Amino acid sequence: MSTITTHGLPIQRPYNRREFIKLSALASAGFLAGCAINPVTGKKQLMLMSEDWEIQVDRQNSPHQFSTDYGKLQDDALNRYIQQVGAAMIPYTHRPKMPYFFQGVNAAYINAYAFPGGSIAATRGILLSLESEAALSALIGHELGHVNARHTAEQMSKGTLIQAIAGGISIYAGTKGDSYGQLASIFGMLGSGALLASYSRDNEREADRLGMTYMVNSGYGTEGAVQLMTMLNGLHKGSSGAASLLFSTHPMSQERYDTTVSLANSEFNYAKGQPLYRERYMDNTAGLRRIKTAIEKFQQAEELMAKQSYDKAESSFKEGLKTAPSDYAGLLMMAKCQYAQKKYDQALSFSEQAKQVYPREAQANHISGLSKIQLKKFDQAVEDFNNYQNKLPGNPNTIFYRGYAYEGMGNRQKSADDYSLYLQQVTEGEQAQHAYQRLVEWGVIKQSGQ
Ligand SMILES: [Zn+2]
Repeated sequence: MSTITTHGLPIQRPYNRREFIKLSALASAGFLAGCAINPVTGKKQLMLMSEDWEIQVDRQNSPHQFSTDYGKLQDDALNRYIQQVGAAMIPYTHRPKMPYFFQGVNAAYINAYAFPGGSIAATRGILLSLESEAALSALIGHELGHVNARHTAEQMSKGTLIQAIAGGISIYAGTKGDSYGQLASIFGMLGSGALLASYSRDNEREADRLGMTYMVNSGYGTEGAVQLMTMLNGLHKGSSGAASLLFSTHPMSQERYDTTVSLANSEFNYAKGQPLYRERYMDNTAGLRRIKTAIEKFQQAEELMAKQSYDKAESSFKEGLKTAPSDYAGLLMMAKCQYAQKKYDQALSFSEQAKQVYPREAQANHISGLSKIQLKKFDQAVEDFNNYQNKLPGNPNTIFYRGYAYEGMGNRQKSADDYSLYLQQVTEGEQAQHAYQRLVEWGVIKQSGQ
């Protein structure tokens, strides 16, 4: 894929004035640490962000990314298993005291990611692509590598990320130019593409090596790391659309594969005979495997959505839902597909079904609220956005759309309150313009010169 080379390389440039002010604001909030010793290399590293900052950014952003990925797996046993595999590596990491946790998320596409405080997730798509527990530990180990070498904080310190998350939350959905991220942003979901998209090739090299060290030390055979690289290399060479976000955040290359194979045969050769636990992995993911065809249909449908082939996407979702009729992610993706085709009654119906199968997860409320706005059921839409806000606070889009629904109801006071609240968090884009214009019309904001 041609986009990978540009995505992998951080663009160096000096801070502009606005970013500098944001950085100063962070400094006064106590987030900046100055120079620090890198926990992995033991060398001095330009490190402006403190550990508190890493943990706070994680806590503010990761819940939104998990919801954008349709929430954590409803299969508690499988989540526990993923948690165990991750937790077993913690004592061997360079930062064993970080508040790590590991889980699967319902998204169908192929991805895994780590937030700087240690929240790590793998999608159903990637869990289905792995063939052993050792490969899973290599995947999680790689993500642990990013956290331990402090790659996000390092990119932030270099200025690569400052625009995206200086305000605390990343309102930037997906990677620029990435169709999956764009889809998320259309529906007002908060992704953390900007936060997660900045790993360089050097970062990848370091994370691969650390991941291998952690998994081998916790008792897995090196073949697990080779299996992971073989799988990634295959997806990469096949230009799999379902893995495009994975490769835009974690640049893949033949070199990564070759290095892993050569490390397995040299430095880590002693661990060759350690177990892979293939059967244990298959047992624990059996429930997932039963609906493998459905998840693959959802992957295809999502790719078609990204290409705006909505009717083809719809038949693919339909086929997937035949195998897995009460699949939260499938139902909600189908709701979005209906919405994109302006079939709002259908969008509402599918999002209501999604709510019923996973009441704790917030995203269905958002899609249902948006559909109700289109159907001019404004008061019911307000209820949905309130429910979303209760389940998952902190998404400024919810505030905007609730204000929009209040506007539809003719409730200017409440609408103005929400629009003001929104503008405190977001000052650019069409929504901000709409909110600003209304506040001026209603005399809440006096334009300069008046
Ligand atoms: Zn990576």
